Amino acid sequence: MRKYMKVVTLSLFALCGIPLLLLAAVQEKSIPKETLTQQEWLVADTAFLQPKAVAEYVQAGDTAGVVLKRLGFSAIEVVNIIQAAATVYPLKKIHIGHKFTRETIQHATWVTYQIDAESSLQLVFEKGKGWQAEIKKYQLDSRIEVVSATIEESLFLDAAKAGLADRLILKLVDMFAWDIDFARDLRKGDSFTVMFEESYDRDGRQVDYTILAASFTNRGRVFTGILYVNKQGVAEYYNDQGHNLRKTYLKSPVKYSRISSRFRASRKHPVLGYTRAHRGVDYAAKTGTPVRAIGDGKVIYKGWKGGYGRLIEIRHHNGIHSTAYAHLSRYAKRIQKGTYVQQGQVIGYVGMSGLATGPHLHFEFRLRGRAINPLRIKHTPAAPVNKDELSAFRLQAKKMLHMMSEFDQTDHWG
Ligand SMILES: [Zn+2]
Repeated sequence: MRKYMKVVTLSLFALCGIPLLLLAAVQEKSIPKETLTQQEWLVADTAFLQPKAVAEYVQAGDTAGVVLKRLGFSAIEVVNIIQAAATVYPLKKIHIGHKFTRETIQHATWVTYQIDAESSLQLVFEKGKGWQAEIKKYQLDSRIEVVSATIEESLFLDAAKAGLADRLILKLVDMFAWDIDFARDLRKGDSFTVMFEESYDRDGRQVDYTILAASFTNRGRVFTGILYVNKQGVAEYYNDQGHNLRKTYLKSPVKYSRISSRFRASRKHPVLGYTRAHRGVDYAAKTGTPVRAIGDGKVIYKGWKGGYGRLIEIRHHNGIHSTAYAHLSRYAKRIQKGTYVQQGQVIGYVGMSGLATGPHLHFEFRLRGRAINPLRIKHTPAAPVNKDELSAFRLQAKKMLHMMSEFDQTDHWG
């Protein structure tokens, strides 16, 4: 199902600054009209306003002068254009394949050189003023779309059937990576709705996708995310309560403890006596001290495992991180293999089962199954919406979710 909401033209830059406005901004594709007087503008008939445009692409060996001559400018005009351009963009730097355009409307002539996907050099000639140059940021054309899909085969296959680009799906996966293990936990019947802005450059090429809001139903659990740009200009995804969709891990699985042994490439084992690596961090604490999951995830192992004694392993939702909690005296109630646990949830209690000289928690953090030093993990803050912005956020969230659900049920075309 692919549903177009509305074709709007707006600037991506507006998105970063005033996200609320973007939903209302409707603007005609800009034709240079500021050089006509109000009166001329009123009497002008539309056919006459259609600019006469010609374009030339930079070929190997071309200089700006050569391309401008191909566009029909005389030698003296070429010199004037290059001189005017030099104040903002020296035309010595031109790239093969980039486009020069010449447009004429009545008494004015425009020369545009496409610098990159986001900007162009624009030169305007007006009688009495000569050539004036400026750098223009493109008004990217964009439209907002709402697409829903139900997973029958795989996320990427079904998304492709719904007409969604892989790049957009990767963004969706990234958005919910802390809540859903996309590699393992997707099921037939899971579904999602995504409202996104698709932007194009002036030649109609897709430039980017920005997810404005999305909801994902995974095994009956519904996750929602809304894009919000805070007063500092930082864009993040939040759930409808204003909690950041990104999360961080708890710094420690045990409160009120001290680190008795750190992660080390090799050390003398206190029981076995020989030297071997210590692939985790030991937290010394009294037997019975609660042990907490440092992040949301799924229990993938619960049981006795050699020197680890009673062990719990959790795979976190991003699918690449897992944590292990060893030497437990006992497990928390209702913790089984396959149980989903939340950050901070008590999963067991400190003990000295397996090879341990005293009560402590042996804690491991693994990246794709390989133990890394948990004390070296960077904890990037993932703060909720600021209290003083909560009401603004709630209003925006309400509007966006309303739009998403409304357009998900109507406007079926394509
Ligand atoms: Zn240890």
